[in-house]
Amino acid sequence: MKNFACSNCGNTVYFENVKCVNCGSTLGFDSGELSIVALADAGMSETAPDVPIFRKLNPGPDDVVLRYCANAEFGVCNWLTPESESNIFCKACDLNRIIPNLSEPGSLHAWRALEHAKKRLVYSLLRFSLPFDGSASSKGSLTFDFVRNALTGHLDGVVTIDVSEADAVERERQRKHFDEPYRSLLGHLRHESGHYYWMVLVDEAQRLEEFREIFGDERDDYDAALARHHSSGPAPDWQERHVSAYASAHPWEDWAETWAHYLHMVDALDTAAAEGMEGHGLRLDLRDDIYSTVTFETLMARWIPLTIALNSLSRSMGHDDFYPFVIPGSAYDKLAFVHRVIHGRGEQQQPAEAAPAETLNLTP
Ligand SMILES: [Zn+2]
Ligand SMILES: [Zn+2]
Ligand SMILES: [Zn+2]
Repeated sequence: MKNFACSNCGNTVYFENVKCVNCGSTLGFDSGELSIVALADAGMSETAPDVPIFRKLNPGPDDVVLRYCANAEFGVCNWLTPESESNIFCKACDLNRIIPNLSEPGSLHAWRALEHAKKRLVYSLLRFSLPFDGSASSKGSLTFDFVRNALTGHLDGVVTIDVSEADAVERERQRKHFDEPYRSLLGHLRHESGHYYWMVLVDEAQRLEEFREIFGDERDDYDAALARHHSSGPAPDWQERHVSAYASAHPWEDWAETWAHYLHMVDALDTAAAEGMEGHGLRLDLRDDIYSTVTFETLMARWIPLTIALNSLSRSMGHDDFYPFVIPGSAYDKLAFVHRVIHGRGEQQQPAEAAPAETLNLTP
């Protein structure tokens, strides 16, 4: 993610901040500008009593009166929405169908963690201009249910997340149980969003043939494949074909794991670029926006040196590798397909990009 700064004093601020620690300005996230903005009080809403409204500090001619999303009241959202709109929720909270039951202990804390992760996902979707409100497809909106003791998963556009995934101790237990060292809330959300975008960008966009050539036939019995994965474990040779063990369970899971991995890469590269962490020895134009202008080859050419640097840093601190992955040639092709379907919406299908001759081994 890019760096944000307080538009009053220039102090670096986080994506989740509502106040600048340096100058005390009120801050909010403007989902049109995709930026954190400093706000000036503009009184109270005329339509909703007790709701404060704001203008941006130094507003431009097109800037409108704003208010916080209704979920700001619970400390779970800092996104802004135009005062003129009747919807009380921001673009991201508008996707929620079920929120945690706040009368249960720990639920507010869990919801905050869930929202922070979901906002990061939605930020990436907005940067890619990916459709999620259902208006551009017949698949309906991307929808989130945050439910306790539910099975985390996806069905017909609805992403269900077990609220206990937000509990660090429970997540650690499941991380060990399922042998998923990279299990994280954001990883879950990215994975499950992948199932939604498979419907929109592959199935609905008529790219099934190309998908099947790369990932295999998704018409294989899904329930039987998952049961097999959970009883006998992953395919023994999964490391030769997939980004993760779970990806070997079924082509749909392979796609969702690959999609999540791609979003991890893009967000991490965007952050590295914003922090000036890239570029050592790279003969590439690092001003290219990782979300819009780079080819997949360039993205990988930037990604690999970054992961080596991150692993080296981790080793310097006496920790395990930060990025304990090796991307085999066929997973490279799968990531390239994700890149193509995100960037090639509305375009003709293109021939598959050639896989590199050798496996990309990221262990220095
Ligand atoms: Zn400030
Ligand atoms: Zn919101
Ligand atoms: Zn899945």
